Amino acid sequence: MKQFLVDIALPVPLDKTFTYITPPELQPLAKAGSRVLVTFGKKTLSGVIVGFPAVAPVQGLKPLIDLLDAEPTFSEEMLRLTRWMSEYYFAPWGEVLKAATPQGLTIERTRHVRLAVEDIRSALEATKRTAPKQHAILAALQHGNDLTVAQLQKKTRASRIHAALHQMEQRGWITVEEIAKPRAKPKLEKFVQLTDGGKGSLYQLDASTDEKSGRLPPKQRALLLALSGAEQRQRVQGVLKHAGASLSTLRTLEQKGLVAITLREVVRESEYEPIEPPPHITLNQYQQHAVQTIAAAIQEVRYKTFLLHGVTGSGKTQVYIETIRLVLAAGKTAIVLVPEISLTPQTVRRFKAHFANDVAVMHSRMSVGERFDAWRLAHEARIKIVIGPRSAIFAPLRNIGLIVVDEEQEASYKQFDSTPRYNARDVAIVRASNTKAVVILGSATPSAESYHNALSGKYEMLVLPERVDNARLPSIEIVDMTKERKWVYEELKKEVKERQGEFPKRLPIVSISHVLKDKIRQRLQNNEGTILLQNRRGFSHVVECYDCGFVEQCDNCEVTLTYHVTKKHLRCHYCGFVKKPPTVCPKCGGIEIRFHAFGTQQVQQELQGLLPEARLLRMDLDTTSRKGAHNRLLMEFGTGKADILLGTQMVAKGLDFPRVTLVGVISADTQMLLPDFRSAERTFQLLTQVAGRAGRSDLAGEVIIQTLRPEHYSLKHVVSHDFPGFYREELEYRRELDYPPFSRIVLVEFKGEKENEVDHHAKKFGEFLQPSAGKYFTVLGPAEAAIPKIKNRYRTHILIKNFKSTDPSGSQLRTALVKARQQYEASALSKNKKIQLTIDVDPQGMM
Ligand code: ADP
Ligand code: ZN
Repeated sequence: MKQFLVDIALPVPLDKTFTYITPPELQPLAKAGSRVLVTFGKKTLSGVIVGFPAVAPVQGLKPLIDLLDAEPTFSEEMLRLTRWMSEYYFAPWGEVLKAATPQGLTIERTRHVRLAVEDIRSALEATKRTAPKQHAILAALQHGNDLTVAQLQKKTRASRIHAALHQMEQRGWITVEEIAKPRAKPKLEKFVQLTDGGKGSLYQLDASTDEKSGRLPPKQRALLLALSGAEQRQRVQGVLKHAGASLSTLRTLEQKGLVAITLREVVRESEYEPIEPPPHITLNQYQQHAVQTIAAAIQEVRYKTFLLHGVTGSGKTQVYIETIRLVLAAGKTAIVLVPEISLTPQTVRRFKAHFANDVAVMHSRMSVGERFDAWRLAHEARIKIVIGPRSAIFAPLRNIGLIVVDEEQEASYKQFDSTPRYNARDVAIVRASNTKAVVILGSATPSAESYHNALSGKYEMLVLPERVDNARLPSIEIVDMTKERKWVYEELKKEVKERQGEFPKRLPIVSISHVLKDKIRQRLQNNEGTILLQNRRGFSHVVECYDCGFVEQCDNCEVTLTYHVTKKHLRCHYCGFVKKPPTVCPKCGGIEIRFHAFGTQQVQQELQGLLPEARLLRMDLDTTSRKGAHNRLLMEFGTGKADILLGTQMVAKGLDFPRVTLVGVISADTQMLLPDFRSAERTFQLLTQVAGRAGRSDLAGEVIIQTLRPEHYSLKHVVSHDFPGFYREELEYRRELDYPPFSRIVLVEFKGEKENEVDHHAKKFGEFLQPSAGKYFTVLGPAEAAIPKIKNRYRTHILIKNFKSTDPSGSQLRTALVKARQQYEASALSKNKKIQLTIDVDPQGMM
């Protein structure tokens, strides 16, 4: 007899799908994209039907336990997209599908225990002394309700009850049943309406103001009156509150046939009130041009990507809104991706103001129920626009016309800490090309990759060159901190000479120049605001020359060498190059070689010493960890309760405070010196962003950037507001050293508790890979990661540069990597389960 077979993608770390038999009763319902329950080893897992094989690959296949969907969760289109992701990002298909499943739909497995014993009394008696745990379980169950294992654990105050349960099950005293249920369900609420009879009695009530003839008790009357004004069904909760009555009173009215209570589904929505009606806006010429060009592509119904390049406030969001309007008019749907939804509530409010109930928001701060509702509304085509962070790219919309990726360069689009390690921007482009949709990548500071694609014609560039409000660009001044230090040194010398004292052994660290100090003081006098940026990341120490600012770089990779405190050496974490730290500066011969790392806290102290009268707020991870702290700090600063806002890159994003006329960057070098090939690009982006915080149409802003490398190209172009100039130089450097966009980078990471094991595994994997290297890719390392140990686990990296010129789709590298991984898994190494191997394609961070 022919078996009805299905291939199932399961969320297990194995690079394959699994075949099961569909039992006859499920056969008519088993469709591709539907979720099923299966036994896998000793576990029960939920997976997705992805295929219908004709022949069984092996003997002894198991049947499906159950089918979880009446309608498939995943469309053909989503199956195709997730499959591409699985191949491109080296992630099991089942894991990708799991990431694309909204949380509320995931199955929470619970074991339910039910009493089956006939004579409970004698069972209780029998266990009383000999088996106290069983006795307690029986006692808990004796009133007839099913209890979950978790509930039983709580009631019996014992955690290890599994053995007891097992024995009792064997004796036939209880049954244990696995019940799978979705964690979120549609939310139902009670609604109430007057029946015709109710309306009649109301009529009587009205006619007779006399208490006695009213017949109904006052609470019931009050309820009927509360319902009398409404034509439609009312929420029960609201009515009860309004009438000051209880549910039982309402039930009494129901029994008398005066009201009808029904359950109806309600949609849970998160807080974006109040929504004001959108202002009437006439697009300026640049916006019009952008909208018209994009509209033409939408009409042609073909895939195309636009790079919309315009500073903050140049009207990009308005362009998204107008193009979405066209998409909806054409009967299609849209996805809007934003980097971090908690930082962009205004954007969400704006979309709601324009598109009202056509929009659903999806983000992680929403409750499981809210997320589930948003997902379901999209799945059932009851909404047309989904807005959210990276995971919103999985929105189950059909007929997509447009995908917007706002601030496309943001690293938060990349999932870096769990499988699949995807970049939502790139997935958006693939999804759009599968569905003949248009993509808008919007940015004030595009990534080098996207800018290159726009220059080469792969994308079309649209520019919004001016701010809508005509604010002037701020004037930007670079302060050379090496000179500043010399100046401090000379002052100190003079002072020491005057008082004939002794010269200090160590020079004081100066993080605020006198230029910056004077400018801040001016702002204090004028009651204007100052933003100070100190983007210090704790973990990367570099060694620099105090006199000239020289910092050692790798001879091979042109990235900053990192100082390793334990081994006391400098190391390149791309290629493993090692060097002793210099004692004499190779550039100027100076001997003041020291660490460079001062954080926001130190700067805060120094500022308070220099300007004790200033009211200062610090904003970094430490001061914003509590919910709402971020907003509170911004409010305080915005309303003028503080003079200075000092913080990490958080202060660079999305803030719009008219009172800010000065922006100071304490050290442009902290970002510039991170051992990452994107450090110059990130510096340029960050400085451009933070500079944009200063100045309005009436008050021109000033920006002070302090640095030890005033001649660095990323600074030069920030000062002259020259985007193309920066990208030209940056792309030149990338081309020379085969970094993206000219190559694709793949990071293979080994992690584990024993350093020698981690190293050995990495070395072996490198050996499996090395023979295929050459024409299509090169292999660097293994080398200790820039952060060599996290949470007591050592990390070693192999870095692969995959050349786009010879292997444009990456398929050659993929074949080689799959082969190397198979060899690795077939070898004795794979027995060591304590070493974790991860493959990260297009990593955003290289640390
Ligand atoms: P961006 O997304 O580039 O930061 P927005 O679209 O948010 O720019 O525009 C900045 C502000 O200017 C918003 O308050 C917006 O309502 C307003 N705005 C946008 N376009 C126009 C226009 N053509 N005329 C007047 N105001 C506009
Ligand atoms: Zn190197």
